[in-house]
Amino acid sequence: MAGKRSLEETIRKYTLKNAADYKLAIPAKVVGKVIGEFPDAKNDMKATMRLLNEEAKRVNSLTHGQVAQEMKEFEYAERKEEKKELELPGAIRGHVLTRFPPEPSGYPHIGHAKAAWLDCQSALNHGGKMLLRFDDTNPEKEKQEYVTALKDGLAWLGIEWSDETYTSDRVEELYTYCDELFVKYKAYVCTCSAEAVKKGREEKKECDCTAREPQENMALFRKMRDGKLEEGAAVVRFRGDMHSENTVMRDPTLFRIIKAPHYRQGEKYKCWPSYDFSAPILDSVEGITHAMRTKEYELRDELYFAILKILELRRPHLIEFSRLSIQGAPISKRLITPLIEQKKVEGWDDPRLPTLKGLARRGMLPEAVKTFVLSFGISKVESEPSWDALLAENRKLLDERCMRRYFVRSPAKLAVEGAPAKEADVPNHPKNAAMGKRKIAAAGEFYIAGADADALAVGETFRLKELYNLVVAEKQPGQVRAKYDADEGLAAKKIQWVPVESAVSCKVRVAGDLLDEAGNFRADSLSEDSGFCEASCRELAVGDIVQLERYGYARMDKLEENGVVFIFSC
Ligand code: ATP
Ligand code: MG
Repeated sequence: MAGKRSLEETIRKYTLKNAADYKLAIPAKVVGKVIGEFPDAKNDMKATMRLLNEEAKRVNSLTHGQVAQEMKEFEYAERKEEKKELELPGAIRGHVLTRFPPEPSGYPHIGHAKAAWLDCQSALNHGGKMLLRFDDTNPEKEKQEYVTALKDGLAWLGIEWSDETYTSDRVEELYTYCDELFVKYKAYVCTCSAEAVKKGREEKKECDCTAREPQENMALFRKMRDGKLEEGAAVVRFRGDMHSENTVMRDPTLFRIIKAPHYRQGEKYKCWPSYDFSAPILDSVEGITHAMRTKEYELRDELYFAILKILELRRPHLIEFSRLSIQGAPISKRLITPLIEQKKVEGWDDPRLPTLKGLARRGMLPEAVKTFVLSFGISKVESEPSWDALLAENRKLLDERCMRRYFVRSPAKLAVEGAPAKEADVPNHPKNAAMGKRKIAAAGEFYIAGADADALAVGETFRLKELYNLVVAEKQPGQVRAKYDADEGLAAKKIQWVPVESAVSCKVRVAGDLLDEAGNFRADSLSEDSGFCEASCRELAVGDIVQLERYGYARMDKLEENGVVFIFSC
C-alpha cells in the first residue's frame, strides 16, 4: 500500500532495494517502482530523475551493511518470484536469435531444461526467437528416437522454437569450409596415431604432418570422405598453437572418420566434423545472435572465434552459464546412459532419474521445472542446489489443483462399537467446493494409519475425519477398539480412515537420491510405502495427481487388478 511517504522517501526506499539486489543502484531500474507508488512523480520527470540520480549516487557510496541498515526503515512487499533478468549483451529488440543445440544421444534431462529455458526465455524477453538445432555428427551415438524424445520434452516444458535444423544436413558445407582452411594453411590432415597426437599435445610438439601442403591435405581429406581410409587412420587438425597455454588451441581435431551409418544421413558420410568446428560455423551461418553454452566450454571460446576469424564469418555473442548439478542426481547423459544400459533403473522414465520423463512420472509439473531452472538465471556461479526449491514450487502448484484422497500407510485395524451406519460426504478439496465431494460408506470396521494408531491412548477422543468422533477403548499391536462418541463436536485429533469392506490395496513408490556422495549407484534408492486407500482411487486415471492427505502428493502410476500403485511426488 502506498503510505503517506514523500517522493524523496519513496526514491530512497527503492534505490536501497535496487542496490541490495544488484550491487549497484541504477536510477532507470528504480523509476518504475517509484512512479508505481507515487504517480505524481510523473508530472515532473526531470525533477524526479534528478532526485533518483542523486540518491543512486549516495546509496552507491554506502557499504553493504549500511544499505541493509537503512532498508530496515521500510517495508518491502515480497516479490512474488524473483525472476533473474536474462540480459543479453548487445541485443537489439526483435533481432535476437538463440539456439538450443542438443545432441540426439539420449533423453532430455533437467539440465537440458535449464539450457533450453535460458535460450528460449532470453530470446522472448528481447522479442526474439529460439532455434532448435540437433547437433548430430556422431553416428555411433545418435538415434531418431532421441530426436523425437527431445522434441517431446521441449513441448512438455512449453518451449517453442522457430526453426528446426540438423548439423548433419550441413556436412557438405562444412567440408567446403575445411578446404578453405587448408588453402589458408590453417588446417592439415594428421596421420599420426591417437597416442602420438596426445603425446605431442602434452609435450607441446608439432608433428611432421603440419608440413603438408594444401593440395596434399585436400587429397587426403577427399580420401577420408570417400571412405578410403580406415577409422583412426587420419584426422583433420586445426593449425593452432602447440605452445599455447590453452590446451584447446594445441591443434584440435576438426574432422574424424566414423563409418557407422547415420540415423538421418544413412551411408552418405564417412567423415564427420567435431563440435569445435561445426558449432561456430553453424552459429554464424544460421544467424544466431547470442549463443549460450555451459561454462566448461569457456576454454573453447578462443578456438570458436579463431575459426570464425579465419573464415571471415560473423561473430555471434558467446555467453556462458553454469551447468545445473544437484546432489545425488546424475544430470548428464554420460551418467544416465550406463544406468539404463545396466538396467539399474527401469528406463528413461524411472522416477529416480532427473530426466524430464522421470520428473513427469513423479508428478513434477512443467511450470515448476521452468520456475526452478530459470531461478538461476544466466549466471556462471557454480552451486549445487538441492531438489527442495523445485519440490516447494511443485507443491504450491499442486495444492490448488489436486483432489484429496485418504491413504493409510502401514495400516492398523480399528473396530468401532455403537456407531450408526453412515455415509460420509467428503470434500475433494478443503478450500475449493467446486471440486465436489465423494461418498464413503462406513460400517464398523476401518483401517487407519499405523502411526496414527500408535499415537492413540486409551480413553482419548479422536475423530475419523468427516465421519464421527470416537473414544479409544482398547489398544493392541496393530489393532484399536473404540466406542462411538458423537457425530459432531470438537476432537483435537482428526485422522484419515479407509473402510475395511471397500479398501483398495495401495502402494506408493518413493524415489530417493539415485547416487551416494561418492557418485555411486544406491541400490536402495527406490522405496515403497504400502497400505490401503479409499475405493475412489480406482477411478483415477494413470497420470492423475492427488494429495494423499497427511502423506503427500502422489501420481497414479498403475491400476492393477488387486490394487493401485502411486509414485510419490512431493
Ligand atoms: P550430457 O552430459 O547430458 O551429454 P551435453 O552437454 O553433452 O550433456 P547436449 O545434448 O549436447 O548434452 O546438450 C545440449 C545443451 O544442453 C547444451 O547447451 C548443454 O550445455 C546443455 N546442458 C546439458 N547438460 C546440462 C546441465 N546439467 N546444465 C545446464 N545445461 C546443460
Ligand atoms: Mg554432448
